[in-house]
Parts: sequence; structure tokens; C-alpha cells
Amino acid sequence: MFSTFDIFKIGLGPSSSHTTGPMRVAKRVLQEADEKGFLESASRIVVELQGSLALTGVGHGTIKASIWGLLGFEPETIDKDEAESALVEIENSGQIDALGKYQIAFDMRKDIDLRGDIIPQLHPNGMIVRIFNGETEVFSREFYSTGGGFIASREQLLRPLVDDILTRAKNSPYTFTSGAELLAKCEKLKISIADLILKNEDAIRPRAETEKGILAIWECMNDAINRGLKTQGILQGGLNVRRRASTFYETLKNGPPSQELERLFDWLNVYAMAVNEENADGGRVVTAPTNGASGLIPSLIKYYCAHEGYDESDCKTGGKIAIFLFTAAAIGMIYKQRASLSGAEMGCQGEVGVACSMGAAGLAAIWGGTPKQIEHAAEIAMEHNLGLTCDPVGGLVQIPCIERNAIGAVKAANAARLALRDDGDHKVSLDQVIETMRQTGLDMSHKYKETSLGGLAVNVVEC
Ligand code: SF4
Repeated sequence: MFSTFDIFKIGLGPSSSHTTGPMRVAKRVLQEADEKGFLESASRIVVELQGSLALTGVGHGTIKASIWGLLGFEPETIDKDEAESALVEIENSGQIDALGKYQIAFDMRKDIDLRGDIIPQLHPNGMIVRIFNGETEVFSREFYSTGGGFIASREQLLRPLVDDILTRAKNSPYTFTSGAELLAKCEKLKISIADLILKNEDAIRPRAETEKGILAIWECMNDAINRGLKTQGILQGGLNVRRRASTFYETLKNGPPSQELERLFDWLNVYAMAVNEENADGGRVVTAPTNGASGLIPSLIKYYCAHEGYDESDCKTGGKIAIFLFTAAAIGMIYKQRASLSGAEMGCQGEVGVACSMGAAGLAAIWGGTPKQIEHAAEIAMEHNLGLTCDPVGGLVQIPCIERNAIGAVKAANAARLALRDDGDHKVSLDQVIETMRQTGLDMSHKYKETSLGGLAVNVVEC
């Protein structure tokens, strides 16, 4: 069973599937090569990026992230300044300090091989790391970055699902692979969705560590909001997109008090955009469930749980922020198991759409919704994101991504309101809408799945 901390992970922007995942793959493959003795005598390392990792890899920071992984950096702890200096060092010396242990010749332009012409069948984000001794390839591993920072080897993707379910069942007291199963377990145990997740977390680590983890996740989200609200300028990548959150925030904060009901939209917009501007600039954010969708959930939590500040108790068992994150994570786990969190597989319905569904569930939970109402909120939110394409302009996680998180936050709040007006009985189940998202994602042309080959990406002229 997944943990809350598999869904919410700290890392650097701009893309969990294109930054966090490749960094983890590169490090993991080199560690295995090192354990088997291939790295000591290596003369060359080549990283082949396939499919979406190659087609949007430059704008999504995949090249840098792969190199950082080869150097031994990890997404959770990487120091951006140190990592950038290491790239300059490689450029100057023509060598890479693999895992911080072995000096190996490395040419970024040749040894990161962009193969956008290969669209792997198993998953569109393919990556092969090869180790050479002289001209001979002595070791290689094929991995996939499957969305939200998750990675899987070729062998793992080919393994029958039943193996995974049996393994999970041993580790977690309350496994679930569908919304229906989750609701049945909550009903049987007479507990909330958040409490059921907490019981699973308790089986993994002491309660105090989980609470510390929730606080760390929220503090990272909140820091991203605060940095985004203060920072001005043009986002990296060459598209000349101006950061807007700080200006909007100043207008909101310093403007005359307003009774306008629509003021809510302004706050949700500004918080979501602040995080996504940070993400677009390679800042530290939390996958929620991906980096591209990292602003929606923090915006909802900030406005509804911490607008006037927050207390650490909000992140402890029974606290508002903890209830929100556990509930949202439960919904994210179902999407991960039954469909995908990858824009390259599902389009943006699998990223901002899922974030909207998770956010609606989290809100419904802190507003006192029953498990059935929460499941309904999650269903409504996805139902109206079905078919959402991924077509980032210039391959950068900026247009439409930044505004899309803002719009998604408002939509999530509306979905939660709608669900709470009802008693929880509804026609379309969360499982049905997830299956619809999955089938729609499979049918969607690859032009609209994080390749920048269609949609806004081809209709907006870069300058
Ligand atoms: S359009 Fe959506 S899925 Fe695509 S990069 Fe942007 S946020 Fe991610």
C-alpha cells in the first residue's frame, strides 16, 4: 500500500516525472553498477532519454536532473546552488564525479542522448543508463519515470499486478485498490478516511514521525507559497513569462477591504500561482501529486486551514492540515493504482485533474463530510477535468500549467461544496470516473500528452 509520503514528496521543480524521477533513476542505476563493480572501471556513462523525457526534457529540466542523479544528488535534499556549480564544473573539466566517487569522462551534449523518436510501449517516459568500459557496454538498466516522482524498472512494469497487491497486503492493515473498497473499509471500521490512512501509516513508522513528516510537507508547501508571493521577474526557460503572483498579492493585501464574494477566487489564484511559479523556476515544492500540479492543494490548505497562520497542532493527528493531507493522499493512491499520475500517459487530467480531485476530497473532509460525501467530491472534481490535455508551450511547465492550478483550486472548492449539499448518494462513482480518465488517456493522441507537439504548444508562437 502506498504511504501519504509517496504521494506528497519534496523535490525540485519543474516536473516530478521529468526531474524527480530521472534524478532517482540515474542515482539508482549507478548505485547498482557500483555495487556490482562496473563503475570503478567505467570509461563512459550514457543516459538515453526516450519519448516525452526527450521531447520536453530540455524545458522540463530532465537533462540537468539526470546529471544530478549521476552525481549522487537526491530530490529531497539537493542544494540548488551546489548542484548548479557541479554542472559548471562538468562543463569545464569534461568529467563527471559519478556518485561523488569516480571521475569519468562526460560530455553533456553527447552523453545525454535525446531520443524523442522512440516512444516506448511500456510507458512514454523511458530512460536507459549505459555504462561503458572502453568501447564495450558492460552494464545497462531500463527504467521508466511513471509520474509524480515514482519510478519503475522494466521488470517491475512487466510484473503481474497480483504480486504487488500481495506484498502490500503484508505491510498495511487496511489496503484498498478502489474507492468502493475504501468506503467499505471505513464503513466497517466506523472511521474516517483520514483515520484509516493514519492506521496504515502507524504500521510503517511511529506516530510522532508521521506527524513530523506532515509538518515538513506543509512547511515546504507554505515556504513555496511565501517565496512565490515575494519573488518578481521573468521565469527561466526563455519564454519570457512574467511572474505575477507577487504583484497580485500586493494588490490584494494593500487594496481596500472588499466584501466581494469573488475575492475567494483571488486568494486561491494567488496562492496556487505562487507555488507554480516557484516550481517553474526550479524551486523546492511538494508533488501534489506531481510538480506540474504542485500549487492546487497548497492553495486550498493555505486559504482554508492557514490563512491567518497555522499551529503545529494543525499537522498532528486530528489537526486540519493532517486531515486534509491524509484524505487527499487516499484519493491519490487510488488514481495511482487504477490509472496513472503521469501527464505523459493521461494528459493533464492525470496531473491537475487528479490534484483537483484530491483537493476536493481534502476540503470535503475538513468541512465535516462523510466518507461517501468525500468520495463524491473527488468524483465530481475529476468528472469535470476529463479530457484535459497536456500541451506545455516551449516544453516548459509554465503555460498553461501555472494558471491551470489556480483554476483547478477554485474548481476543487466548488466540487466539495456541491458534494456537501448532497447526502453522498450519487450516480457516478469515483471508480467509474477514474476508469473513464484512464480510457480517455489511452485514447488521447500522443500530441496532447506532454510532448509539446500539439495544442497550445504549437499555436502559441515562442518569442
Ligand atoms: S499541462 Fe498539466 S500535465 Fe502538462 S506539464 Fe502542465 S501541469 Fe503538467
